[in-house]
Amino acid sequence: MPELPEVEVTRRGIAAPLLGARVLSVRLGKPLRWPLGQPLQTLVGRRIGEITRRGKYLWLPLQAPDAVARGDGAGCTDGGGCAKGAGETRGGEDAAYRDASDASDASDASNASDGSNRSNGSSGSDGSDRTDGGLLLHLGMSGSLSLQRQPQPPGPHDHFDLATDCGTLRLNDPRRFGAVVWSPSLLHAPAATLLKRLGAEPFDAALTPVHFHAALQQRRAPIKAVLLAGDVVVGAGNIYACEALFLAGVHPALRADRISRPRAARLLAALRQTLSRALELGGSTLRDFSDVHGTSGAFQSEAAVYGRAGLPCTRCGGLLKRQVQAQRSTYFCVVCQRR
Ligand SMILES: [Zn+2]
Repeated sequence: MPELPEVEVTRRGIAAPLLGARVLSVRLGKPLRWPLGQPLQTLVGRRIGEITRRGKYLWLPLQAPDAVARGDGAGCTDGGGCAKGAGETRGGEDAAYRDASDASDASDASNASDGSNRSNGSSGSDGSDRTDGGLLLHLGMSGSLSLQRQPQPPGPHDHFDLATDCGTLRLNDPRRFGAVVWSPSLLHAPAATLLKRLGAEPFDAALTPVHFHAALQQRRAPIKAVLLAGDVVVGAGNIYACEALFLAGVHPALRADRISRPRAARLLAALRQTLSRALELGGSTLRDFSDVHGTSGAFQSEAAVYGRAGLPCTRCGGLLKRQVQAQRSTYFCVVCQRR
């Protein structure tokens, strides 16, 4: 499952090439986890702003065509051969509209359901399409994004294409737990609703060891489960939680509220070190993650405990253990990780 480092690796691969790109067409495949919630045609003509990440969500701001005109000259900033305006675009009859009847903006959904392909950017008659907004993306269990200058025809697992004048952003998601959802902003529903339960960003300077320890004091669950839940700090998916706990010498079953302040500080530092290393190595590829260029991550090959049950601990030489905890495999060393 793509975790925070993999999502950040993905973001870094698409943010610069797509900054200022203009949306030419949108294609949906089979339904993803939630409906898009916006007629596809209203996205055409918008320009992509700075792509950001919160937890495992990516936010693609889409400036309304009017705002683009005022901005005058945003444009594709990629000097590396961006075929601006020259690419063959797909739309109209190729655009597979999905029923958006449960979207909040049902009237707009019916408005666009005729599949007509308006080639200019100013869609909509009531002006409601002209406001800024954006797409919140989640890779789910098995999603990965690619950016293709000359896109191949979509395969059976390609369920979202955002064709722009700087390439086509494509979501491949065999298990379809991923999502692409329209939101007026990060501060409004549905984005705000989806993001509100997230814990602190791991590299946020406001997350001090004191704050981390204080948050752990409120939890009686095992520390591993607290890390996985992501409501204290995001980013500690299973492999990263296992590695950080080993690095900090903390037993995964230790109750979070029994962790001392010095150990909490060590654990926070270990989590940051683990995630930094994962980012350097392009994330982890446990099954099928690849970055936007199709390159696999390499962190998993450096893991000290994850996936290494029965093998010797790199620190003490004892055999590493695997235990199922909160329905997830936990790997640890009984000698080096104390309760
Ligand atoms: Zn050990």
